[in-house]
Amino acid sequence: MWAARVEELITPRTTGIMGVHLWGRGCDVEELARIVREHDLKLLFDAAHAFGCSHEGRMIGNFGGAEVFSFHATKFLNTLEGGAITTNDDELMSRIRLMKNFGFAGQDNVIYAGTNGKMNELSAAMGLTSLENMDEFIAVNRDNYERYRKGLEDVPGVRLMEYDSAERLNYQYVVLELDRTATQLTRDELVKVLWAENVVARRYFYPGCHRMEPYRSNQAHVDWGSRLPETISLSERLITLPTGTAVGPEQVEKICDILRAATQHGAKAREWLSEQETELTGSGTDPEVR
Ligand SMILES: *Cc1c(COP(=O)(O)O)cnc(C)c1O
Repeated sequence: MWAARVEELITPRTTGIMGVHLWGRGCDVEELARIVREHDLKLLFDAAHAFGCSHEGRMIGNFGGAEVFSFHATKFLNTLEGGAITTNDDELMSRIRLMKNFGFAGQDNVIYAGTNGKMNELSAAMGLTSLENMDEFIAVNRDNYERYRKGLEDVPGVRLMEYDSAERLNYQYVVLELDRTATQLTRDELVKVLWAENVVARRYFYPGCHRMEPYRSNQAHVDWGSRLPETISLSERLITLPTGTAVGPEQVEKICDILRAATQHGAKAREWLSEQETELTGSGTDPEVR
């Protein structure tokens, strides 16, 4: 059980736990709240994916000590760059407001350590237009998601991540989980086929933080295989497919057709791939790619 794993990892140096509402699906807030209560820790949430989403009928943004949203251009609500911290704790809110504005409590009066975390006007304007179109974005994402679901029903070894339709959702992520015993191609081969067809599918989240710096070097002694078995397994089996307003029914249908053909004719697809020059690391060298 994952909660027992979380508790095992608490040390005397632990001060808090950060839950992640991955793909906009609320994590088990209640269980995490119980753990932090029992161990006297802080609870924060990475809500980067979860703008407009609810958990048990309550909007995400209301949980833990604070929740942090991302409004980066790749996220559901787009301010180009930026984000927001939400909290129901007035004291914490005052401190965060000071911290994002150099600690200024008024002109010529700095009372707290701070940084420049203010949102600029252009980003705010972008965010407002994004907010105005929120319902349309959800409708398009949801339509794409349903079309992917129908289109992939008969594709063996490919499972579309489910959403709980009783919640409010932004449907921003179309995530496939592969069952390698049923697909003839590996996840990376499938992604290569998609790229060769000009479909920019992503291996979210690959290869995992533990395989990137600084953790790769400064935690090199850790046996990650036994420490993060689920992370490793998922990082080798997931594909995130394109969605959003630039993607419509035709594109979804085409992507489903490619996946169907590639999984049904694995040997042929592999042969075809060897003639292409698709390298999954290609755009990875661009620091702007996330
Ligand atoms: C995008 C993302 C972030 C970072 O958000 P920024 O606005 O780029 O800082 C954090 N966590 C998750 C899960 C994300 O997807």
